[in-house]
Amino acid sequence: MSELHKFLFDGLPVRGIIVRLTDAWTEILGRRESNTATGPWPPEVAELMGQMAAAGALMQSNIKFNGSLILQIFGDGPVKVAVAEVQPDLALRATAKVVGEVPPGVRLSQLVNVANHGRCAITLDPKDKHPGQQPYQGVVPLHGDHREKLERLSEVLEHYMLQSEQLDTKLVLAADEKVAAGLLIQRLPVEGEGNLAGGSAAREERIGVDEDYNRIATLAASLTAQELLELDVDTVLRRLFWEEKLLRFPPQTPRFACSCSRERVAGMIRSLGRQEAEEILAERGDIEVGCDFCGHQYRFDAVDAAQLFAPKGDQPPVTSAVQ
Ligand SMILES: [Zn+2]
Repeated sequence: MSELHKFLFDGLPVRGIIVRLTDAWTEILGRRESNTATGPWPPEVAELMGQMAAAGALMQSNIKFNGSLILQIFGDGPVKVAVAEVQPDLALRATAKVVGEVPPGVRLSQLVNVANHGRCAITLDPKDKHPGQQPYQGVVPLHGDHREKLERLSEVLEHYMLQSEQLDTKLVLAADEKVAAGLLIQRLPVEGEGNLAGGSAAREERIGVDEDYNRIATLAASLTAQELLELDVDTVLRRLFWEEKLLRFPPQTPRFACSCSRERVAGMIRSLGRQEAEEILAERGDIEVGCDFCGHQYRFDAVDAAQLFAPKGDQPPVTSAVQ
């Protein structure tokens, strides 16, 4: 079963999260594979999607936020868009639009950042929005400060965390056809740090803090993709941090779930307008819309479609004569 564990380093301003997606990840892969419109992802794309799903789960559980976290890459290579979306209860889904051939063994930049125009967006979309409220979105490029192309998604997201939260973060991500996993280590803000910034005591304190974080982040960075994919959570944490005292929280269970619905698709068809809907009906007999995330097909025939565009008063009564 998929699992996510949060932990603190006792007495140190450092926290961590480790996630291992198994059934949730193979469900995403399986649905893509059985989607006849797309077929399975090439392995290089699947690896990126698994890393995005694991990173999305880590980032969602790292914030206190009641809404969906949407991690998106807008690419300028064969992967045009890649999306991983995670709900506060760690229900997650992912999809990608791939155009053209993906040569075997390509690196991240060859997938999404060929001309250095690729970017990564992190959107926080609140569940209960006030009228007119926009989701929060942060965008980072897929290159470093000197326009060097980044070849690891973890580096891209470390930049985002530093930029948006001013927090040092170390991320390790890995995915294969069975497991998508990640480890996040983050330096916690120290209380009163700003007020004391001028004092030498504070500076000394800060040095100590950074040393702790740096030591732990270095240990985390020594974790290989193979270890992260193959070892269970307890073994990973014991091997990396056997000299540290960890405070562990009860594990959570990420799972695959898609939030698509017939009502949403109906709304989409309404937004096309009556004329376009009727044109599709005339051409194909019905309107069929497939969900990119889960593969579910929604079908609207001429009667269904007519109802979508009927004025409110003309809709047939919901309560039937039988009652
Ligand atoms: Zn769906």
